[in-house]
Amino acid sequence: MNRREFSKNSIMLGVGAWAAFPNNSRAGIREQSGNYYEEPAKKLPIRKFDVVVVGAGTGGVVAALAAARQGAKTILIERKGYTGGTVTEGGTALHSFYNLWKAFPGVKKRQVVKGIPQEIIDRMMAVGGCSGHAEMVRGYDYDSVCTAIDTELYKLVTMQMLDEAGVFLAVNTLLTGAIVDGGRLRGAITDSRSGREAIYAKAFVDCSAYGDLAAFAGAQYKVPNDYACCNSIGLANVDLDGYVAHLEAHGGSNQLAYGLRSGQPGKVVRFNGGLGGAFRDEARKIGMSSMITTVHDNYLMFVKCNFKVPGSVINRDDMAKAELEVRKRQAKAVELFRKHVPGCEKAFMARTSPTLNIRRGRLITCDYDITHEDVIEGRHFDDEVMVYGFHDNAPRYQVKNGGTYGIPYRALLAAGIENLFVTGMMITSDHRPHMSTRNTVCCMGQGQATGTAAALCARKNCGTRDLPYRDLRAALGKGGVYFES
Ligand SMILES: Cc1cc2nc3c(=O)[nH]c(=O)nc-3n(C[C@H](O)[C@H](O)[C@H](O)COP(=O)(O)OP(=O)(O)OC[C@H]3O[C@@H](n4cnc5c(N)ncnc54)[C@H](O)[C@@H]3O)c2cc1C
Repeated sequence: MNRREFSKNSIMLGVGAWAAFPNNSRAGIREQSGNYYEEPAKKLPIRKFDVVVVGAGTGGVVAALAAARQGAKTILIERKGYTGGTVTEGGTALHSFYNLWKAFPGVKKRQVVKGIPQEIIDRMMAVGGCSGHAEMVRGYDYDSVCTAIDTELYKLVTMQMLDEAGVFLAVNTLLTGAIVDGGRLRGAITDSRSGREAIYAKAFVDCSAYGDLAAFAGAQYKVPNDYACCNSIGLANVDLDGYVAHLEAHGGSNQLAYGLRSGQPGKVVRFNGGLGGAFRDEARKIGMSSMITTVHDNYLMFVKCNFKVPGSVINRDDMAKAELEVRKRQAKAVELFRKHVPGCEKAFMARTSPTLNIRRGRLITCDYDITHEDVIEGRHFDDEVMVYGFHDNAPRYQVKNGGTYGIPYRALLAAGIENLFVTGMMITSDHRPHMSTRNTVCCMGQGQATGTAAALCARKNCGTRDLPYRDLRAALGKGGVYFES
């Protein structure tokens, strides 16, 4: 889909809105050939900031914190009423703050993502909302640690941190457009119950996962639809030990980690294995994964039912069908636990996400596209802004010798736009390296880089490509970001 089709779709939504209110007066309404409603022009109030960050999810929270701490007047725009994004809704453990040292005997254990992402973990630990970086005792050729979080405390902790940093947190606010002047973004247009507003800034960071700001600004994009979507559920009133015993009895667990659970150390926080028999056969039909991560007794934090969307993941109607299908699968998942797992007879669904999560929406064209070889060969770059060592396809694909690769600054610049950074799951076209760069901790690290860079660009009044790398590198170093050399 190109930009014109995207805009056309927005206009088409107006027709549906009219049909929903058949008693409205038609006086003064302009229609073109009966199929289009022409929206009247409207004056919008302007708010001015140094940096606009769109999307208060995994990368956006960190980007806004980083920008504000550089002294930039920063607004964070989020359509939901809380922060955290897919960290709190889709995933299981936060992959990964460490290199894959356990899979490579002799390789040193290194924490390769630090800075603001680690600060969030410290704050989560302080309120009993994290398992800690629990070492894997089985399945460590996939990840060396399991870092599990309490999803609800993550929302509170990150909102508090943003408040402390002085970020203007515009939750319940939807980005609906962009103001573009040549190749430069001037503003973001938002909608909320306080009305429509034009948010002006010098630098912009798109952390919306779907690349909404980049698309509105006219950036080139594709919609690969190369993953299943999912709405993971929290399953309460379950016997964790009963579930682990079930897995052990049906082929054993192939992933296992012990960490802090309900405040007690040395408890199982991560496990995965064969379901066995009728449970396994029924689970396969609903795309259910047996992988579990938790920080609470009697609670399975993320039970996932995957579903590959036929059609487009940015088409409202295709996704509406998927929302229903996944909810049916979730109900079936609860039924299967009740029926097959001892101690889960009274399990119930305690949490769902407000909408489906997807591992990739739009893919935004950037100045550099990270390749499969960059990741598995552990390549580093002259302009790198962070390093990372996890691959979600491990052990099939791992970063060479338990090392790291670098994320180049260029990979975070929306091609053709002077002052727009992109962050998170919307970068990296090849599915294989995307299986690395899209993971939570990588998105968080990218957020620290783009938020810091956006603040520096705003201060220097320069475009993203005119920011001297040495200045950015120095600021990232001061912010606690880890580099290999
Ligand atoms: C089912 C699933 C399981 C996963 N499992 C794992 C795992 O176990 N471990 C791991 O490390 N990673 C996992 N991932 C990957 C990882 O969670 C995501 O890739 C990552 O969290 C994406 O971060 P992000 O910052 O790009 O987007 P998000 O965290 O999704 O943030 C985007 C934010 O933008 C907001 N937004 C979007 N559009 C607008 C708009 N127009 N206006 C205002 N706000 C907007 C959204 O509401 C959201 O808060 C999983 C992903 C999925 C979908």
